[in-house]
Amino acid sequence: MKSSKSLNSAVIGSGIAGLASAIRLASMGVKVIVYEKSSTYGGKLGVWESDGYRFDTGPSLFTMPQYMKELLTIDGLNDVDFDYDQLDILCNYFWEDKTRVSAYSNREKFKEEFRVKLGENPNNIDSFLDDSKAKYQITNHVFLEKSLHKLSTYLRWETLKSMLRIRKVGVFKKMHTENTKQFSNPKSVQFFDRFATYNGSNPYESPSTLNVIPHYEFGIGAFFPKKGMRSIVDALYTKAINMGVQFEFNKVINQITKLGNTYTLNNEGINYDLMVCNMDIATASKGPLKTLIKPQNSHYSPSSSALIFYWGIKKEFKELDLHNIFFSADYQKEFKSIFDNHTIDDDPTVYVQISSKLKKDDAPIKCENWFVMVNAPYVEGQDWDTLISATKENIISKLSRLLYENIQDLIEVEHILTPQLIWDKTGSYKGALYGSSSNNRMSAFLRHPNFSKHHKGLYFCGGSVHPGGGIPLCLLSAKITSDIIHNDFKIC
Ligand SMILES: Cc1cc2nc3c(=O)[nH]c(=O)nc-3n(C[C@H](O)[C@H](O)[C@H](O)COP(=O)(O)OP(=O)(O)OC[C@H]3O[C@@H](n4cnc5c(N)ncnc54)[C@H](O)[C@@H]3O)c2cc1C
Repeated sequence: MKSSKSLNSAVIGSGIAGLASAIRLASMGVKVIVYEKSSTYGGKLGVWESDGYRFDTGPSLFTMPQYMKELLTIDGLNDVDFDYDQLDILCNYFWEDKTRVSAYSNREKFKEEFRVKLGENPNNIDSFLDDSKAKYQITNHVFLEKSLHKLSTYLRWETLKSMLRIRKVGVFKKMHTENTKQFSNPKSVQFFDRFATYNGSNPYESPSTLNVIPHYEFGIGAFFPKKGMRSIVDALYTKAINMGVQFEFNKVINQITKLGNTYTLNNEGINYDLMVCNMDIATASKGPLKTLIKPQNSHYSPSSSALIFYWGIKKEFKELDLHNIFFSADYQKEFKSIFDNHTIDDDPTVYVQISSKLKKDDAPIKCENWFVMVNAPYVEGQDWDTLISATKENIISKLSRLLYENIQDLIEVEHILTPQLIWDKTGSYKGALYGSSSNNRMSAFLRHPNFSKHHKGLYFCGGSVHPGGGIPLCLLSAKITSDIIHNDFKIC
């Protein structure tokens, strides 16, 4: 057996989970090199700047900051600057009939807002959010923080306790059906159904287990990094460098080969004792790992993707906050368009995030940087040019209608990210934002494990493997993976 100091590892991809894995391996004394096909780190957490506007191009909502704190102090040193604010208004919501509500993080204010604006009974909100918290407490330690593919997970007392309460998680019920029973106003139902989109799923198909998601925002909190979302990966990269991790950029890994107990990359002759793949698992299984793992075809259903317009807007909107949602009139039709018809509905729900509301230097004075996103299907042979220009028109007319301004006239810079570009840039299979969807009630168990069952030393992290997509879960995937490595290699 080798000591951890002489173990050589390679991480393929420097997405958030790849960076987190590199830090965790380095903290165990393992030598780490990260290979990244792009010219920079961070994967989906990109940045685009033009004419005084700065845009975070990927994630816009930051939850569970404690996972970041844990990583940035993993070696006992607090040597990387990373700070964030907690949001008082989680998001503003707009409907076509001119109803507007603000989702306050303070539960009493939130209930009052829903009572006054939507006539919703505060007890319905209380019982829903209490249930969301209970779901979190049952699932978090078992389904999210541990491997679902290791016997040891099921032999723990905490797992047994959770299993005894599993009915409460709502695996056999549908999210929308449960929310319809819970709330009196269809707008409240739409409001809580939207949380399915936080992992790229369809509320009309997903199990009501996904009603755990509101607890992340309402129970634990929503945050925004003071230097923007990109600073999350800036901080992780700096930490990794401080801990001795090496990076090689512009390096595409095309082939991973097993030689005895070690691995080589692109047949370049360097042997690695262990390999952590942060590439999307479906893409890797058809590419560099095709001789080592099975293709993800039979049960693999990608999550939704997104179409994003980054607009420099030469005006300030007082009625908008950091996060804003403009709901579609027929939510069910919108999801049918995305998941069944693989298209973007002609009345899509529009999400507008404006980081310059908090980080003033993200836009010129009296201007705002709008990140305008609609949910989109994964790539399936669509005519994207036609779909993009039709969707842009629909978005502009919707926002103009609800904000009483001609939005087209206010756009002074534009950049577009499409599902195909997401696929091309980060390798996310078919442009899925969150790996596989959670529409199936067994999806948690169908996601690829964090290790290879057949090849010792081969591990997986990131949004396409257990426990799933989104920043917090990607950070947890790196933790699960490194715990398994710690155990497999008996690192002290
Ligand atoms: C527009 C958008 C909005 C989102 N909104 C949110 C949000 O608000 N909140 C949230 O929590 N999450 C959000 N997400 C999801 C979140 O961004 C992802 O779940 C997460 O960033 C995925 O990280 P990852 O570690 O799996 O890797 P990725 O970010 O997918 O990175 C994988 C890396 O591997 C590299 N790579 C691929 N192939 C190779 C190869 N052959 N050789 C070498 N390197 C390779 C890629 O270049 C890339 O850097 C959003 C995503 C997008 C795109």
